[in-house]
Amino acid sequence: MYDVWKNALAEIEQKISPANFSTWFQNTSLLSTENGEIKIGVKNTFYVKQLRARYLDIIKTALENNGLEVNSIDFEVNSSSKPKVRSREVTKADDLIKKRTPSLKNNSTTSENGLNQKYTLETFVVGSNNDLAVGAARSIIDAPGSRYNPFFLYGGPGLGKTHLAQAIGNELLKRDPDLKILYTPISHFYSDFVESIRNGKGKEFNRKFQKLDCLIIDDFQFIVGKEKSQEEFFNIFNDLYQLNKQIIITSDRLPSQIKSVDERLASRLTMGGAFDIQLPKFEDKCAILRAKADQIGAEIEPEAIEYIAENVNTNIRDLEGEFSTILLMSEVRGLTPLELIRNGSVSVSRSSKLRPLAPKQVVEKVAKYYNLPVKEMCGKSRVANIKTARQVAMFILSKELSMSTPKIASEVGVKDHTTVMHGIKKIEQDLKLNFTLRDQIAEIKEKIYG
Ligand code: ADP
Ligand code: MG
Repeated sequence: MYDVWKNALAEIEQKISPANFSTWFQNTSLLSTENGEIKIGVKNTFYVKQLRARYLDIIKTALENNGLEVNSIDFEVNSSSKPKVRSREVTKADDLIKKRTPSLKNNSTTSENGLNQKYTLETFVVGSNNDLAVGAARSIIDAPGSRYNPFFLYGGPGLGKTHLAQAIGNELLKRDPDLKILYTPISHFYSDFVESIRNGKGKEFNRKFQKLDCLIIDDFQFIVGKEKSQEEFFNIFNDLYQLNKQIIITSDRLPSQIKSVDERLASRLTMGGAFDIQLPKFEDKCAILRAKADQIGAEIEPEAIEYIAENVNTNIRDLEGEFSTILLMSEVRGLTPLELIRNGSVSVSRSSKLRPLAPKQVVEKVAKYYNLPVKEMCGKSRVANIKTARQVAMFILSKELSMSTPKIASEVGVKDHTTVMHGIKKIEQDLKLNFTLRDQIAEIKEKIYG
């Protein structure tokens, strides 16, 4: 029986994607075949539904091809094929999910050119937070080295910079496998450079870059304070640029906001345009989760997706993390994601919104941070720094406590709630480019929650 199933699995494996295969078939077994009534053992009820809905025909054919008579196929939850994970151990969720759902994280091979094939444009969901950047990326793929060169991509951590930058490289290679592309985080560039100097191979180092058609530098912000490598980078940059070779750079901030970056270099880096990736909105988050679910063939209710999207407000990396955890718990406990949420088994932790906070406390902390008496901050002063502090308070009350604008108005001592709306918008706008403000708000939040 074991062999029949093994052969059948081998056949099934040929027909479906590796990700789906390992997700849905990895822990299955053939329990009985009497009178053509096939019984297949699975881990839990979640699998029964999926296998029945999606793979019944494939399973039937595979069994028949291996000499079995198939009149009916049934699935049974088989405790021996249950993973030996108790709910307490769900902290290891990500590791386990990695093993079971390779398409989400693990089907990755990094080749010599530094590119990881898991990062494709296909799996990169376009939303209001990144559409301009993706538009530019597409035009680079169509005509590298022409329009957006260099392509400077920036934004906070976990928002998709590496994914998009690598996707451009991978797509370029798909179109022309002969292209010479190199992806390297700036930190590796630096250490390779230092190493080459130490070995007296500085020229070789430089030559390696001269040959490239496309250079992708990730996390450029880490260049801080490394003057020698900055100079070398500048030289390589100029040479490639003059040859119309495509240069792609990612960073968590604009070059002008990276302290030790030479002004000349800073302005050259954004010559081809600077594109930012912003925090995803609710709809963007839902679209990303839906796409991830489809990729691995996981069943997750729309309400569960909305719950995760609503509650993870940090970045896409965390969004993926929560999603994986819930899917794993669902697998381990034999409940659907929504059932888990409804019965209180999951509380998404990456949400500051869940923590109870008094508006008054928030206002006090903001005032204290800016060294202002609450009365002054919540007064009528139009002095710039006081006004900004007031607007930051409005912003935090809105984002962290989800308060309505009229309520915020009365909390920060302004008459009209449209002033609050304006204030929040102002901070939202400023946050895009003002990294000092970004840091300040992060620090205030730490003080509030810490
Ligand atoms: P960054 O480099 O900005 O820190 P990453 O590119 O590493 O962020 O992205 C973090 C995770 O989120 C990755 O697993 C990536 O695949 C995923 N991700 C980010 N943006 C998107 C998107 N628009 N669609 C799908 N997955 C995304
Ligand atoms: Mg990155």
